[in-house]
Amino acid sequence: MTRRWLFADQLGPHFLDSPDQQVLLVESKAVFRRRAFHRQKAHLILSALRHRALDDRVRLVRADTYAVGVRERVTVCHPTSRAARTLVNRLPTVAEVLPPRGFVTAPADFTAWANGRKHLRMEDFYRDARQRHGVLMDGAEPAGGRWNLDADNREPPPRGATRLGVAPPPAIVEDEIDEQVRADLDRWEREDGIAFVGNDGPRMFPATRDEALARLDHFVEHRLATFGPYEDAMLAGDPLMSHSLLSAAMNLGLLDPLEVVERAEQAYRQGDAPLASVEGFVRQIIGWRDFIWHLYWYFEPEYRAGNELGARGELPRWFAELDADAVEARCLSDVLAGVRDRGWVHHIPRLMVLGNYALQRGWRPGAMADWFHRSFVDGYEWVMTANVIGMSQYADRGRMSTKPYAAGGAYINRMSDYCGGCRYDPKVRVGDAACPYTAGYWSFLARNEPVLAGNHRMRQPLNGLHRLADVEALVEQEQARGSRAP
Ligand code: FAD
Ligand code: SF4
Repeated sequence: MTRRWLFADQLGPHFLDSPDQQVLLVESKAVFRRRAFHRQKAHLILSALRHRALDDRVRLVRADTYAVGVRERVTVCHPTSRAARTLVNRLPTVAEVLPPRGFVTAPADFTAWANGRKHLRMEDFYRDARQRHGVLMDGAEPAGGRWNLDADNREPPPRGATRLGVAPPPAIVEDEIDEQVRADLDRWEREDGIAFVGNDGPRMFPATRDEALARLDHFVEHRLATFGPYEDAMLAGDPLMSHSLLSAAMNLGLLDPLEVVERAEQAYRQGDAPLASVEGFVRQIIGWRDFIWHLYWYFEPEYRAGNELGARGELPRWFAELDADAVEARCLSDVLAGVRDRGWVHHIPRLMVLGNYALQRGWRPGAMADWFHRSFVDGYEWVMTANVIGMSQYADRGRMSTKPYAAGGAYINRMSDYCGGCRYDPKVRVGDAACPYTAGYWSFLARNEPVLAGNHRMRQPLNGLHRLADVEALVEQEQARGSRAP
């Protein structure tokens, strides 16, 4: 059997044709020269590669470029970026490029579903995928009789709680490989001029299959049951809430998403987790994750450069460099600190605190995509296109979402405990106490009204804008704020 070249995000057994297949891995320092990644992301990727190389069947080559590293005949699974796909198609040593693995729906099934549709909506794709893969199905019917249990999920945090009170995932025990990685990264920073963003810290995310499986077991046993109701809630004292923290492991290829949803379904079938939580979790994986992956390939490459709202602002330094201490707005400061200290915050802080702020301020979508890609432990090019350009920055003018994810302080106040301890007031639009999210929301609407007016889902918010007596003062105030940290 020809040796299999595995990219660093294809590390699990499902990327091999048999357990005894020989493997080639290439570790490239040059990757870290091109962009300033989060220090903990660089650590995680190197640690995962080097742990994978402990297997006798694996040859690990250190080389600056893949062309230099891949000197023997190999097969490879379809990689996860366009640049890597061009490369594997060009390299003479690559004997065969196999279809992608590590996702649930096959490319041909996605294309068959998408072609001819006016709107590509995740909900429709998700229902199709559940039927196709027989996940949470009772015969031809969805388990429990409903496809979508969002109405039972997405609650605000429990009143008065500072923590959710679920068992946190057990800490990962670092080993001598982590020690070596840390020493190498220190040296690269010192001697090779390689720069990182964020703080170093104990490795929080799995680098091996065993660690990833242990995390999956722990999540299903201790946290899945409360996933659904609190999936959108934020608590300053509990950044992990009931989230799985499995994205990095799935994106490194350490876990097969299908095995993850099968474990969750099993918990429901055995009566260990309620259907609403299991359905909410399954839709994240065979729904959202796969949808985002397929849109990366389905949309034309130019989609990534989309900027339908004409947002031209560059990221201010305090944001780019994760300087949470420069920010007084409690929600944004706490979330930025989470990125700085962990390279991870959950979905709602990404969408409704970080992305929402950039959208309101008109920062360049491409710059935001690059920032998310570099600053998050689970960030990869394929995840950015639809999540950041499409969903978070609305730079595609609604090809994948029905309206912009712009919201004022009222949303953050409802879904978190941030506002109580903040120097701003979510109800105030103008003046010293004006919440930058509330004021930013209205000024976003005022600035983009010509583009948004044709969207019937924006009619009500725009009517609200017209009823405000202080729009002018508010727009002036937000212009004066400019790129200063709020
Ligand atoms: P959970 O809440 O436990 O969800 C379970 C799993 O569902 C995740 O592990 C993930 O694999 C999957 N998932 C859910 N939503 C998405 C989605 N929209 N896209 C892809 N996978 C999804 N996810 C990444 O994996 N990498 C990223 O770089 C990334 N950047 C994002 C940027 C923005 C602006 C937004 C709005 C979302 C982004 N996401 C990204 C999606 C999502 O926020 C993360 O997957 C999730 O927060 C990871 O934490 P978790 O594993 O605890 O997820
Ligand atoms: Fe964030 Fe505004 Fe609430 Fe402060 S008042 S925490 S800035 S939403």
